[in-house]
Amino acid sequence: MNAPIHREMPEGTLDAAAALAHASAKWDGDIVRQLTDYIAIPAKSPGFDKDWAANGHIDNVLRRAAQWVEEQKVEGLKLELIRLEGRTPVIFFEVPASAGDGGSRQTMSAAGPSQGAKAPSGGSEAHEVASVGAQGTVLMYGHMDKQPEFTGWRKDLGPWTPKYEDGKLYGRGGADDGYAVYASIAAVQALKAQKVAHPRIVGLIETCEESGSYDLMPYIDALRPRLGDVALVICLDSGAGNYDPLWLTTSLRGMASGTLKVEILTEGVHSGDASGLVPSSFRIMRQLLDRLEDSKPAACCPTAFIARCLANVWRKRRPPPPSWATRSTSAFRGPTTTAAAPPRLRCPPPPTRCRPSSTAPGRRRSASPALRAFRR
Ligand SMILES: [Zn+2]
Repeated sequence: MNAPIHREMPEGTLDAAAALAHASAKWDGDIVRQLTDYIAIPAKSPGFDKDWAANGHIDNVLRRAAQWVEEQKVEGLKLELIRLEGRTPVIFFEVPASAGDGGSRQTMSAAGPSQGAKAPSGGSEAHEVASVGAQGTVLMYGHMDKQPEFTGWRKDLGPWTPKYEDGKLYGRGGADDGYAVYASIAAVQALKAQKVAHPRIVGLIETCEESGSYDLMPYIDALRPRLGDVALVICLDSGAGNYDPLWLTTSLRGMASGTLKVEILTEGVHSGDASGLVPSSFRIMRQLLDRLEDSKPAACCPTAFIARCLANVWRKRRPPPPSWATRSTSAFRGPTTTAAAPPRLRCPPPPTRCRPSSTAPGRRRSASPALRAFRR
């Protein structure tokens, strides 16, 4: 869930007002322009652009972002564009830990957990973050691939035609998630500007997120030694409830996807021959899904769809079944499967002598040996 952060920055950690002014100036004076250019490039995720490699848009946005990062001349920063064979590319950057200027603001040691560092005087969460950061690496994550165009754009707006209006930049991908690499570097710059101590920081910007990040884990594996001892991951890819406070996503529901397949028969069997003998694959599927999310009670069932109305109409209007229809069903003694209907939906059972007209003589298909045995 998203939660606004109410705690103030621990006193002495950072001059928050100065950091905000620094980040705002960087954002308005430079990053908005970068994002405007980024929006104009249709760098759709591989799942929405099968020719992404040939089209080159993903490479284009990644190269431009990498060039911008290099131009920032962040002290000690090293950046690399990495491409594993047959996979979407990533940006990887690292900034070594810094002890800052050793002044009164120091709360995190770049060398170790204690080293004489003063504990922050703020809330326990901030203290935790400071301690964690002192002992390990902070990983900043984001992505540069985009969702597809979709529809519903206002007449004067579009996915690849950026427009800045009333302090908001419209277009595809600026907020999800092109801003991530720029915001990461701006944050590091804000620390550097105040010469505040900080732990080692690495950044991983992928280009496969909107397709399910299937390329991310191979990169994590390949870069594991270079990621180091990651103690805190800052994932710059979430939402916010409004524009006023800083929001933090503390948990996500996640997603599990798969294909549920219910197999009953190896070949098609006519409904007139198999109904009641062969279990309903749909019913089995519904029961399996109910184990994950109970679909009862059926309170959402509109009354117009209640089956007893249909059953009454059917009983009144249905002509009497032809004489041939009584033969096989009356001899049937096999097992049946009956749906357990909710009490208020229970229908009177239809006449058992009736068979669908499609099974009239001359249209019948050959029955399986098991079915023939039942009919005898
Ligand atoms: Zn995203």
